[in-house]
Amino acid sequence: MRILVVEDESRLAGFLNRGFKEAGYAVDMAANGEEALFLAETNPYDLIVLDIMLPIFDGISVCRKLRRGSIDVPVLMLTARDDVEDKISGLDAGADDYLTKPFSFPELLARVRALLRRKNAVKTTRLKVADLEIEQTSRKVFRAGTEISLTRTEYGLLEYLMLNSGQVVTRTMLSEHVWNDDFDAFSNVINVYVNYVRKKIDHGHDKKLIHSLRGVGYMLKDA
Ligand code: CA
Repeated sequence: MRILVVEDESRLAGFLNRGFKEAGYAVDMAANGEEALFLAETNPYDLIVLDIMLPIFDGISVCRKLRRGSIDVPVLMLTARDDVEDKISGLDAGADDYLTKPFSFPELLARVRALLRRKNAVKTTRLKVADLEIEQTSRKVFRAGTEISLTRTEYGLLEYLMLNSGQVVTRTMLSEHVWNDDFDAFSNVINVYVNYVRKKIDHGHDKKLIHSLRGVGYMLKDA
């Protein structure tokens, strides 16, 4: 999942960038409203964390412009104080949720997960395809009841395939939603990682769940 974090205070921005990356998300950063708008219009983000007080345009104008442009990415606003006016304007501008500063990072992560579940119309934190299960809060993966250990990138890849199970997932989708900016588009890193995940998930099982569609991408499905 790729998140855009819009925050102009550099210490908080650095903290959020590291925190989201450690939690397994791909992260882009913007430090003002103009940059935020440009990035949000050119990349298919899964979620935007948007500070209200920003240089150039504030967070409320950014959100309003996105919604006017029919960009319906989930937006979580950060308000500087417990200001009811800010919360009302944020929600009226089309934000999906807000959090008041100072906040705890675990609470921010929990709200981000809740918004992503809502976006993907998933009601629980457990995803299941055949006998493959992942628990999103603990990031644990099980095949036929046996826990499988995955690296951060492998987990991000598998979670994205599971959220889109039964649908074609292209290499472009994976590069946009799973990889951080160290991604080299001309390398075969995606194939390599899909093969790592496939080895861990499908090896030794008669029923293969991860399928390659030549020239198109991948599909995770039961059967
Ligand atoms: Ca700010």
